Amino acid sequence: MAFALSIERLEQACHKDGCPICRLEHDAAVQSITAFLWEHANDSTAREPVNRSYGLCPPHTRLLVASELSSSGNLPGVHMIYEVLARNASQELAAAARSARKPSFLSRLIPTAKQAGRNLLEPSGNCPICDIAQKSAVNNLNVLYEEILANDELRSIYTQSTGICMQHIRQGNALYGFKHPQAAAFINQHAADTLQKNRTEMQEYLRKQNWEYREEGLTADEKTAWLKVLAFFTGLPAKKFNHHIKEF
Ligand SMILES: [Zn+2]
Ligand SMILES: [Zn+2]
Repeated sequence: MAFALSIERLEQACHKDGCPICRLEHDAAVQSITAFLWEHANDSTAREPVNRSYGLCPPHTRLLVASELSSSGNLPGVHMIYEVLARNASQELAAAARSARKPSFLSRLIPTAKQAGRNLLEPSGNCPICDIAQKSAVNNLNVLYEEILANDELRSIYTQSTGICMQHIRQGNALYGFKHPQAAAFINQHAADTLQKNRTEMQEYLRKQNWEYREEGLTADEKTAWLKVLAFFTGLPAKKFNHHIKEF
């Protein structure tokens, strides 16, 4: 039996746009980055997992910067974490360059990554924030598969929601499909019906692009069906799909 608080959190995520499990992963990442910045940025032991992974993954690095900028306007945490990472990477690269130029007495004393049995700059752990997001997904999928048939309120809210994305359907089926086959059937059927409905709207959208049918306007559902299909394949809410293409 899942905790009431976990069910409530899942229900709240279902009320919002996009995959609820992806949203809760993101919330867990934001919370852990905030806690990390406040409690552990200057604690070298707590920073070890970040050192082992050679920093956070690119999206979580952006989240780290955004979190620190929005709370203090300065970036002491980013400086403390990434100064050490820059030093570690620089030393490893310089050692590799030195050993490639000519194996010297010094490089025999200070083993390069290759000599230590690793590839150059090879991480020995995942982005720790990704690990936390992953744990959140496993726990929230457990709540969903355990409760969806037992809890009428959750089932009703889920039925009105975007539903879980493809990646989380895969994960949910792999982890909980055997233990909760009827719940998995319900979730899969909901996704199948949503996709079928929206692909029909998309066909209508395409048909009305034709000059012959130009007088027929698009319905509200035909205008937004593509966003619901993309939400299934990516987990992202509709507002993430816009005309911005600049990432650099
Ligand atoms: Zn998802
Ligand atoms: Zn990450």
